[in-house]
Amino acid sequence: MMEKLKGIPASPGIYIGKAFLYQEQRIDIPMYSVKADEIENELQRLDNAFEMAQVELENLKIINSSVLSNGENLLVDTHILMLSDPEFQNNIKNYLMQNFVNAESAVYSTTKEFIGELSLSNNTYAKERASDFRDVARRVLGMLTSQRLRNLSELAEECVVTAKDILPSDAIIMDKKKVHGIVLEAGGRTSHTAIIARAFGIPAVLGVAGVLQKVKTGHPIIVDGDTGTIIIDPDSKTLDEYRHYIEKNQEITDSLKRYTKKVAETDDGKRVILKANIEILNEVENVKAQGAEGIGLFRSEFLLMQNEYQQSEKKQFEVYKALLENFPGQPVTIRTLDIGGDKIFADLGDHNEKNPLLGWRGIRFSLSVQDIFRRQLRALFRASVYGDLKIMFPMISSMEELDSVLDIISQVKNELSAAGISFSHDVKIGMMVEVPSAVLEADNMAKKVDFFSIGTNDLIQYSIAVDRGNEKVAYLYQPFNPAIIRLLKMTADAAHRNNITVSVCGEAAADPLMAILLLGMGIDELSMSSQSISVIKKIIRNVTYDEAKATLSAVCEMKRGSEINNYLRTKYNDRFGIYFQ
Ligand code: PEP
Ligand code: MG
Repeated sequence: MMEKLKGIPASPGIYIGKAFLYQEQRIDIPMYSVKADEIENELQRLDNAFEMAQVELENLKIINSSVLSNGENLLVDTHILMLSDPEFQNNIKNYLMQNFVNAESAVYSTTKEFIGELSLSNNTYAKERASDFRDVARRVLGMLTSQRLRNLSELAEECVVTAKDILPSDAIIMDKKKVHGIVLEAGGRTSHTAIIARAFGIPAVLGVAGVLQKVKTGHPIIVDGDTGTIIIDPDSKTLDEYRHYIEKNQEITDSLKRYTKKVAETDDGKRVILKANIEILNEVENVKAQGAEGIGLFRSEFLLMQNEYQQSEKKQFEVYKALLENFPGQPVTIRTLDIGGDKIFADLGDHNEKNPLLGWRGIRFSLSVQDIFRRQLRALFRASVYGDLKIMFPMISSMEELDSVLDIISQVKNELSAAGISFSHDVKIGMMVEVPSAVLEADNMAKKVDFFSIGTNDLIQYSIAVDRGNEKVAYLYQPFNPAIIRLLKMTADAAHRNNITVSVCGEAAADPLMAILLLGMGIDELSMSSQSISVIKKIIRNVTYDEAKATLSAVCEMKRGSEINNYLRTKYNDRFGIYFQ
């Protein structure tokens, strides 16, 4: 019988196919006590297993070098680093020596406790790191017991991988030509699986409670990554509806292809620059194919969450340089580390905050852990000679913060000059406007920076006081709330009064109806995930600036988000030949 389940829409797109139930292979773990004179031998076995596990990962990198993305490589590197972490190894060895047990028992017992603690945490990031530790521990146990672990790299046919969780290393080597959908009981939007799924355009719905009890391998299944729905054993009516929807979407996508090479300009001559948001270097080719005019937001979190990059100016420099060289003559906007809130990393940030979203986040973290911040700035400025770099800062909420950032920038530039290191003197410095206090201070802040970039994801969260990741209050998360439209307009007006440019880089920039209002406000640039660029180009080329201004004026008179929504939908419903969700 047909069954519909809801989860988190982690990667967009729809696929109709067959489920493949992926269950982690059980490893048989021999557990026994050892005598004092056998301890040395067990420690040696442990050392060998750790070393072989590292070699296996190094080989995985080499064998898959042509297909691994930057993010995936980073992930393998993280696991290699975890394996070589002396503290991790010593914990296991101490357990072995204190309890007189074999190497397998020591690995199992030590990591089980640690993983248990991480999984119980309320923090999504800590939960996700638990899967990294499980992955690494399984690899070591596989080595100790000489068991070859099955994986997702050898799939017989095209399928929807359905699992409790996919270990990060599984996500990396899975056969992306055969995996057309991912459904997991675990995971959130920031999990590695979600990032990889988005980078490869595989529809994914994560956090689907109880799915494993309901699905068997071979079951027909629909994965709707747009709405976060999965349908098991769909009836013929539902199948027809989805097929029709996919067909229509395909027609729309095909018809939009002719916009990729065009610019977003209205008939009456208002030009809007459309750029892409990216998280890993591997997305660059796709971004170019979609006709982006540069990068409007590179979220550097996924790079810096890798300890190796966080600690190395040189390694960061190489990534920034590669990014700039990929966009000759086009701007690349890199945002400095925005950790905290729902983006906590294993070894960074405070895992026990009562109110993480209002806590040690974004620029607040960077200003207090300045070595990471300064290292990132030095790497950025050094790379600046390779292209048109713009740097921006997340979560600015007061003038003092902005003063401190600008102060550190001049110190970093002075240091580089003193060391004879060249950098571009034309790097534009901007700030994200994503906290209501920044909107209210926009006139003052605009005098200090070269550009604003509005982060609507957070601006909506902080001005309506609605957690952007909490399903229970999702109904309040309303981009068309009149208060939000007013805040956006205030920011745009303040920027232009002070002769600086203003862009929008939150999800709202990719909403066709919102794009009309943003055009009406005179927003200079929109930045979004690359697959939305052509549809927004189409919208802008099919309305006039005058009309957008008139629509905005009409909307500004309205007092309810629902009224604004209805008005825009009715007015534009049949106009562009696209669906409004
Ligand atoms: C935003 O808040 O709108 C934004 C673009 O930043 P992030 O989604 O990374 O918080
Ligand atoms: Mg933000």
